[in-house]
Amino acid sequence: MPTDPITTILIALAALVLWVMSLLRHPIGTCPRCKGAHIVQTRLGRVRTCKKCAGTGLHRRRGATTVHGLYWTLTGNRQRQQRREDIARRLDARRTGDRP
Ligand SMILES: [Zn+2]
Repeated sequence: MPTDPITTILIALAALVLWVMSLLRHPIGTCPRCKGAHIVQTRLGRVRTCKKCAGTGLHRRRGATTVHGLYWTLTGNRQRQQRREDIARRLDARRTGDRP
């Protein structure tokens, strides 16, 4: 199989996009320590609540916070911009006297 460097870069980019989309849709994953079982066995053979997930069996996936922060920064700014434009339009309409 011939490996073109551009093809390799494109595949890596596609994998990155898929991973980011997966993080956006599923930011919470199964706890890697207890694998969702909520409990772990100590070296002495005793069973206790998993400390990593505090017994929830869930874990925030690596990179999820960054991806979601970026997503809300981008979309949040757009929503804020739209709200400001909407308010400006309503104020203009009120000033000129006609109802929107
Ligand atoms: Zn756990």
